[in-house]
Amino acid sequence: MQSFQPPRRILMGPGPSDVSPRVLSALARPTIGHLDPQFQALMEEIKAALQRLFNAPDHACVPLPAPGTAGMEAAIMNLLEPGDRCVVAINGAFGGRMADMAGRAGATVVTVDHDWGLPVDVARVEAALSGAPTKVLAFVHAETSTGARSDAASLCAVARKHGALSVVDCVTSLGGIVVDVAAWDADVVYSGTQKCLSAPPGLSPIALSKRAQAAISGRKEKVRNWLLDFNLLMSYWGGEGGRTYHHTAPINALYGLHEALVAIFEEGQQAAIVRHARTHEALVAGIEAAGLSMLVAEKDRLPQLNTVRVPDGVDEAAVRTHVLKHWDLEIGAGLGPLKGQVWRIGLMGASATAWHVRLCLTALCEALNAQGFKADAQAALAAADGKLG
Ligand SMILES: *Cc1c(COP(=O)(O)O)cnc(C)c1O
Repeated sequence: MQSFQPPRRILMGPGPSDVSPRVLSALARPTIGHLDPQFQALMEEIKAALQRLFNAPDHACVPLPAPGTAGMEAAIMNLLEPGDRCVVAINGAFGGRMADMAGRAGATVVTVDHDWGLPVDVARVEAALSGAPTKVLAFVHAETSTGARSDAASLCAVARKHGALSVVDCVTSLGGIVVDVAAWDADVVYSGTQKCLSAPPGLSPIALSKRAQAAISGRKEKVRNWLLDFNLLMSYWGGEGGRTYHHTAPINALYGLHEALVAIFEEGQQAAIVRHARTHEALVAGIEAAGLSMLVAEKDRLPQLNTVRVPDGVDEAAVRTHVLKHWDLEIGAGLGPLKGQVWRIGLMGASATAWHVRLCLTALCEALNAQGFKADAQAALAAADGKLG
């Protein structure tokens, strides 16, 4: 065997996003024991930083030792018991995954299905909640498979009104658009590290309200998966002093998350959100000047995930291959019903810069022209620059 040397890539797909050198170097610091007092101090700092990032001062916040899907699985498996009713809004791939998990937890699952590209319809969700007593409402804030943003505040409010706990997938939203757990009064909110936080994949920050914690400690039967059982996990991540072995924390991955959090607070959360919005406006202006169009209606668009329609006669996969080969640029393909129909261009975390926008427009126009679709790269760059100032 030989050491693996990854190629240099520019990551503008649906995640992972570019990881900054400071985070990469934090990952390479010496491994210490997970019960070392210094490591425990790091864990405490990460917990407090996550409370600040989610704006969840009264929630228990920890990073789960697995990717974003682990947050989803933890939320669903801890809150639901066999026979509980669960309403799941599905407007893309990740809502579908939540419904699958809720079924595996033995819940009675009621789905509210939407065409891909639309935000979740609050009135239809409320109608589903009114049908019968419901334990959990689950939905995705930022649907990465389509680029649509849903109204988390209104959806959490209807869950509260009908006595249901809310589970909000913020894997792609956290760090890129406003996530305000306290204002939403949300119950379980989880994210991932490799989208707008720009750390490597492998951790899932999660926040649990007091209501959610009470529901979990009052379960009739044990949580069916052991690693993600909050009743056990909290003895590890819980208060100072009482920490006992549960699993071995992914120590170096937590150094990386810690450094990514330091970088976010250095920039300022609001400044980072403005940066995502500005680069998105520039990208969209360039895309439209190049003769392409966006899938999602303007008011519902996510800045960090841009779904661009593939024009007639253009080979979707050949364009992705071209930009990877000639520009070391990764963009994403469409999923499910959008397969072959769209490209998914991420502007997440460290990948949300003016340089990334200009590089992507240049590469995309070149790839389109190679297929005989006339895309004017000069016009695209001028339109983007007009927004970047
Ligand atoms: C990426 C993503 C997930 C899954 O995260 P993994 O880290 O891939 O497990 C879940 N929900 C949404 C909205 C995502 O974008």
